[in-house]
Amino acid sequence: MQNLIDIHLHLDGSLPFDTAQKLSKLHHFPALNDDQLHQKLSVSKDCHDLNEYLEKFAFPLKLMQTKTDLEMIVFDLLRDLRKQGFIYVEIRFAPQLHTQKDLTQEDAVKACDIGYKNFLNWQDALNDGQADLHANFILCCMRKHDNEKKNMETVLLAKKMLKTSHVVGIDLAGAETPELAIENFKPLFDTAKKLGVPYTIHAGEAMGPESIYEALSLGTKRIGHGIRCTEDSKLVQELIKDQITLECCATSNMNTKVFDQLETYPVRDLLQENVRVTLNTDNMTVSNTTLPKEYKKLEEKTGLSKDEEKQMLKNSIAACFASPQEKERLKKLIG
Ligand SMILES: [Zn+2]
Repeated sequence: MQNLIDIHLHLDGSLPFDTAQKLSKLHHFPALNDDQLHQKLSVSKDCHDLNEYLEKFAFPLKLMQTKTDLEMIVFDLLRDLRKQGFIYVEIRFAPQLHTQKDLTQEDAVKACDIGYKNFLNWQDALNDGQADLHANFILCCMRKHDNEKKNMETVLLAKKMLKTSHVVGIDLAGAETPELAIENFKPLFDTAKKLGVPYTIHAGEAMGPESIYEALSLGTKRIGHGIRCTEDSKLVQELIKDQITLECCATSNMNTKVFDQLETYPVRDLLQENVRVTLNTDNMTVSNTTLPKEYKKLEEKTGLSKDEEKQMLKNSIAACFASPQEKERLKKLIG
């Protein structure tokens, strides 16, 4: 499959396996064979719950604490995505999770930016006739207790770097729980709105329609996941009317038990109702998936058609935070 676009991909959940091996050696971690490393990075076939899923982020984060780590990971990930036929990706990460050693949030973002520039130089030299892959970064704030300061720093950093780097917006990520309702994070999005920083918000994954209503009340036009909107027909009508884009991630939703079988995964129904659905990977390494695999699984299990796939790519182009020129380039490539 060619001309792929992913607008919901987490860097820490998509650390390429080979890169994890290289970095483990570089940092003198206890030697792990391939099976052991897979166990550390990816969920088992019958992932039990969200806890098992979230555990898989602890190990990769240990390998993402220096400039070299982040440069290498971004470069290697983009190289892999280009091989899969990607033309555009929005990679998201939380700068505050990469400050366990001596990096600042800004250092972490700059290192990712250098990784991308190194990739662009490598890609230019290939001259192989394949369409170029372009990338942008979304900075995640974290749904945690007592980190208002770190989150606000991320919002201000995004504003500062909008023009000088490939940062294009912010997100709110982390486990969805009732104690950490989205409305607690309103000041972040009020500030982002005031500063002109685009944003997307995770909602409607572990928590139901109420979390999507909360995200919408903060003015977001994109919802990370949002798949549980199907539990509330009034909400679906609102998503259609306000042209809200859902960043759906099928395998990830199976892993975390939001859905128990792909056969009933409702992207086709939502597409038929004209909801702006997109298909993404979320966490390639944690979920053992790729975007071509996601499309193939939905073709096999739900009868997803090529026209519906094209519609989802068009929805991604309309919703992504890329420049108007980049959107034009992508539209031409999709046809
Ligand atoms: Zn996500």
